[in-house]
Amino acid sequence: MLPLELEKEYYQALIDRKTEYEGVFFVGVKTTGVFCRPTCPARKPKWENCEFFETAEEALLASFRPCKRCRPLSHPDLVSEIVSVLVDAVEKEPEKRWKDEDLQRFSVDPSTARRQFKKRFGMTFVEYARARRMGLAFRHIRNGHSVIDTQISTGYESSSGFRDAFSSIMGTPPGLQENCNVLKASWMDTRLGPMVAAADDEALYLLEFVQRRGLEREIERLRQKTKSAIIPGSTAIISSLEVELDKYFEGTLTEFKTPVKLLGSPFQKQVWEALQKIPYGETLSYAEMAASLGKPTAYRAVARANGANQIAVILPCHRVINSNGELGGYGGGIPRKKWMIQHERKSLQK
Ligand SMILES: [Zn+2]
Repeated sequence: MLPLELEKEYYQALIDRKTEYEGVFFVGVKTTGVFCRPTCPARKPKWENCEFFETAEEALLASFRPCKRCRPLSHPDLVSEIVSVLVDAVEKEPEKRWKDEDLQRFSVDPSTARRQFKKRFGMTFVEYARARRMGLAFRHIRNGHSVIDTQISTGYESSSGFRDAFSSIMGTPPGLQENCNVLKASWMDTRLGPMVAAADDEALYLLEFVQRRGLEREIERLRQKTKSAIIPGSTAIISSLEVELDKYFEGTLTEFKTPVKLLGSPFQKQVWEALQKIPYGETLSYAEMAASLGKPTAYRAVARANGANQIAVILPCHRVINSNGELGGYGGGIPRKKWMIQHERKSLQK
């Protein structure tokens, strides 16, 4: 979510078809489901139907598809044939798990495709296809929500449509054998965008923004580490988390009580435990954190351990910043980090 001021600036640039905003933002049009570049020749959407993104990947993950008229995934002055062929191919089979090998079908050299995609949009072809697939899958889940609620109340845990959509993100769960661990995963809407949570009956294992880079890999690692099947559903832990998250985003909760399970190396766990001691509304630098662990030179390792945190918001890695006051990195995106730091400060002042 971008600041309102910035969205207004982008909307004006969209209306004026300003070429200097090319590549700066993309606009998703809720009524048509497509996303466009600022200079799209099509009729301009109303303000309330626009959603603004700073990268094409974010637009894809929000389940928008590229506009056929302005082709937001092509460079305005140089429409790459390879790119447009591949984007069209993905649109024909968006649910497919595209791999580099598939490029042979189109007589496209994988390294050329990789270079062209990367240069123009900062992601490879495979990453593009994955973002599109996840966006669609998540939309199915979102649309399925009311269906699921009905089915839970009538005794079914989830609809098969929901299950299909979920498996396309989580991978197909292995056959449920005896002694197989099961983690339930649930989707939740927050004011900073959708999040996904995974938990068993005892603890929370994962909480991430759906748009977090590398989420799919993270889920795969979780599955391997815990030797679990991850299936859609809820547990008492997830219900408690939902209540707590709502309160956090309202500004009325400063400390989470939902139990978490830390899966990492001894050093990572040390860092994550230190994270939990940073008070609400305060920040610490990576260097200060390293010093507090008795390893003053290990600030890079501390930053990496922060990046490997799988329980966003609750393990507040958003409260760790650079020594010079800059925000540093954040898997869920810098605007979310900034928002949470300011939100916590403001809530304390109230
Ligand atoms: Zn367009």
